[in-house]
Amino acid sequence: MRIANLNGRLALIDGDHMSVDVETASAGRFTADPQAVYSRWTEFREWAAKAERGTGTAFQAEDLGSPAPAPRQVFAIGLNYRTHASESGFSVPDTLPPVFTKYISAITGPVSTVQLPEGGNTDWEIELVVVIGKAAHHVAEADAWSHVAGLTAGQDLSERISQMQSPVPQFGFGKSFPGFAPMGPYLVTPDEFENPDDLKLGCAIDGEEVQKGRTGDLIFPVSTLIAKLSAVVQLLPGDIIFTGTPAGVGMGRNPQRFLRPGELLVSHVEGIGELRQTFVEA
Ligand code: ZN
Repeated sequence: MRIANLNGRLALIDGDHMSVDVETASAGRFTADPQAVYSRWTEFREWAAKAERGTGTAFQAEDLGSPAPAPRQVFAIGLNYRTHASESGFSVPDTLPPVFTKYISAITGPVSTVQLPEGGNTDWEIELVVVIGKAAHHVAEADAWSHVAGLTAGQDLSERISQMQSPVPQFGFGKSFPGFAPMGPYLVTPDEFENPDDLKLGCAIDGEEVQKGRTGDLIFPVSTLIAKLSAVVQLLPGDIIFTGTPAGVGMGRNPQRFLRPGELLVSHVEGIGELRQTFVEA
């Protein structure tokens, strides 16, 4: 199943068409609020499996918001691909990867225009994003996927100067400028993938590929992340996890390269779809 946030309303998607407006089709049993559905995820999936599909209404990608627009908690994971840890000059984490947040005001839908912070070095990080569908605390790896509502694509946009400032790095700040957490275009349930643990992902600037990887190369895969995060924090329905980025970010290049006004960043995750960000001067 694929769901979307279409003009702020929860919708079921078939192919690239909207087939069901959830609030209307459920006669108000489920509200239009895309974030509210995760707290009733099991019930919603049962209803959606039987919901009568419309013939399909076309829409523009610009009409989509994040499929999880207002999570209570956002977790983001650093250094979760060996190649990216090495280009960043860090050693590979062996027991717990770095965990930080992106503040939720940075979240947008999949197509957006992003202001580059003045005097900053804004970088790209394509990531697989997990949305939690069932509360998780002390969850074993073997049970972890049953707590996942679905997967979406995300860009962990990062302003490196504020992220890396001394005396200690400020990951949460440097990665939370307005528009720095675009997500979408859809939330895709795990059963839709042949192997949800091995998806191609990547991004390109003005058509030039800069990142290319597979989630099969995650040092801590989705199930391990949920086990490790939930060993400490209660994961709540609708929470999201940015799972880390593969190699190819601008900071790791020689010479370094950062996003410039007028550039278009197109990101993709296999089986989910595309994000499109245009950058402008502040
Ligand atoms: Zn990241």
